[in-house]
Amino acid sequence: MLLKSILNRVQFHSGFVYGSVRLVEKSARLLLEIEIRPRKGSRPVCSVCCTTGPGYDSLPVRPFEFVPLWGITVFFVYAMRRVECPRCGTKVERVPWAEGKNHLTTTYAWFLAKWAKRLYWKEVADAFQTTWDNVFCS
Ligand SMILES: [Zn+2]
Repeated sequence: MLLKSILNRVQFHSGFVYGSVRLVEKSARLLLEIEIRPRKGSRPVCSVCCTTGPGYDSLPVRPFEFVPLWGITVFFVYAMRRVECPRCGTKVERVPWAEGKNHLTTTYAWFLAKWAKRLYWKEVADAFQTTWDNVFCS
């Protein structure tokens, strides 16, 4: 079973599709970068009022940390679109996997928060190769 099939089963986001998956080595650490693209024909949603509108442009690609797999840090990489909202003007789109400017996916934040109830926050950070701040924010 492909990783994309598993993600579509556990993290399906209508309006978006999973693209290429790359295994990258950075600073002697393995990272899994999973590209996300807007589904063809989908319109971006305004992050302020949740109205859909025409796309304006795209921002540079940005990583969102997801739950690690086999001890490998996982990032969703996505170029946020800006939406031409009829009410609010030009705003960055709302994405279903993260809130606001958070670089952690909502799923990963809940995952860390769940573990932080059982272990010391430092232990959680070490176990999942993330920072104490990420655990604290979760
Ligand atoms: Zn709006």
